[in-house]
Amino acid sequence: MAKNPKKSFYEEAMETFDRAADLIKLHPRVRMEIEEPDFEHIFYVTIETRDRLVPLDEEEIRPFADLPPSGVKAGDALEPLADGKFILHRRALLNADITIRQGVLNIPGKGFFRIEKGGPRKFKAYRVQHNQVRGPYKGGIRYHKDCSLDLFKTLAADMTWKTAIAEIPFGGAKGGVRFDPLLYSKEEIEAITLRYVYKLKGLMGPFMDIPAPDVGTNAEIMAAMLRQYTDGEREHHALRGVVTGKDVRIGGSEGRLKSTGQGVVYCIEEWARDKGFTLRGARVLVQGFGNVGSATAEILAAQGAKVVAVNDAFGTVHNDAGLDVMALVAHVHENPANLKKTVAGFAGGTAISKADFWGIDADILVPAALGEEITGPVAEKLKVRLVAEGANGPTTGDGDRVLRKRKIDLIPDIICNAGGVTVSYYEWLQNQRLERWTEADVNQRLERAIKANYAIIRDIARDTPQRSALHNSRRYCVGQPTDVRTAAMVLALKRVEAHYLLEGFSQ
Ligand code: NAD
Repeated sequence: MAKNPKKSFYEEAMETFDRAADLIKLHPRVRMEIEEPDFEHIFYVTIETRDRLVPLDEEEIRPFADLPPSGVKAGDALEPLADGKFILHRRALLNADITIRQGVLNIPGKGFFRIEKGGPRKFKAYRVQHNQVRGPYKGGIRYHKDCSLDLFKTLAADMTWKTAIAEIPFGGAKGGVRFDPLLYSKEEIEAITLRYVYKLKGLMGPFMDIPAPDVGTNAEIMAAMLRQYTDGEREHHALRGVVTGKDVRIGGSEGRLKSTGQGVVYCIEEWARDKGFTLRGARVLVQGFGNVGSATAEILAAQGAKVVAVNDAFGTVHNDAGLDVMALVAHVHENPANLKKTVAGFAGGTAISKADFWGIDADILVPAALGEEITGPVAEKLKVRLVAEGANGPTTGDGDRVLRKRKIDLIPDIICNAGGVTVSYYEWLQNQRLERWTEADVNQRLERAIKANYAIIRDIARDTPQRSALHNSRRYCVGQPTDVRTAAMVLALKRVEAHYLLEGFSQ
């Protein structure tokens, strides 16, 4: 079936919602309540940007070839950006010996640059609060150049389904700012974060709306959000749970950093157990090598799986004998010169095209980058047995139909990557109780939660209601088998619907 070009990302994502809602005959008023978000906030943040040094090309350098070199003593005062520019921090001028002619300067070892004046800049920001019937709004903050209301609506709704599936007392939200963080300095990114929280403060809170990291954000940004939210508040320690995904030294949870990848692996283990498949020696493809992709790869490799290729925004590396994942992590995440944090240039593999990546013979594909990557044509090319969705919404409607037709197994995103938000809940609990759990404690609880809910989804898909020591799917099966993505949505909708049906509606 051809993709309807008029359909928005949100409408396409809601196809699964509609299928599951029809299947369980979702209460019509509940359906109306949850098929659109509670609130869609769009606002703007402004910051002062710094001056930049813009590299000149050969042609532009020619008239300045005789320009005396400038000595900048505070080397770290020139902060490199991914587009080749440098941020010119004021301290670069301390004790410097600088010659500028017509705005151009020559820095030995770095090249010739034109100074680009900084100044105020405006950014579009979002927070979509989808649903809070089960608990405070919860969802990540994304900093990316391709953000839109449509995207955040989809991701916020996904959080409502995910928190319900993970059976944690939160609702769904998502938000962020439209810009490319690779092109801004650390200070500028912090300033954007502070303004974002300044504007959103009235709508956030540990019992109201709780952000976390997503694409382009991390524990450092969560720390800035925490500070901006709590500074000056009378009982600010009671507010530590206003964001999750914090560094463990400031109230984060052990195991949170790798929790999404860990959850992906718990799902894959459960799938493998069910299929009698052994993960030792399994061939794995990973797309995206950020937080989720790299943690998943590390944990699978530690279990003896072979990660044969990794694709990211800037390249793909392939090694049929299996990439050395720890060396790849060092290349991407522990190498300050790798400004794009890309796998490209990794010496332990050969570079291949993205098109070839999809066609590699393997057992498991873990998409852990952005949405809409596994389209119909991509799904036709895949030579894997399982797609485990680490990313949110990586498969389009057409991609889904092809996977089903080709009988490629699927672990849908709303259970597969629920490990992150589950451990976020553990972090929030530890913050409320002023406790600290060990990583073993966290992972034990996470494993139980993910595997139990995964088993319920599998029972719904096969229509095999049953009760075990670990799970009980009797309440959720619908009397007929269905595909696993719809089954996951059935579980989410039944848990959300129960609140409306049992609590009723206030008028
Ligand atoms: P990240 O910013 O740490 O990493 C993103 C990765 O995707 C990078 O390696 C980047 O190069 C790659 N990428 C970006 N555009 C790409 C493209 N067009 N083609 C190929 N690769 C591309 O982000 P993350 O936190 O790892 O999140 C990845 C996915 O997982 C997102 O869909 C996110 O919503 C989802 N997710 C994240 C968490 C979490 O805890 N961080 C939890 C649940 C779901």
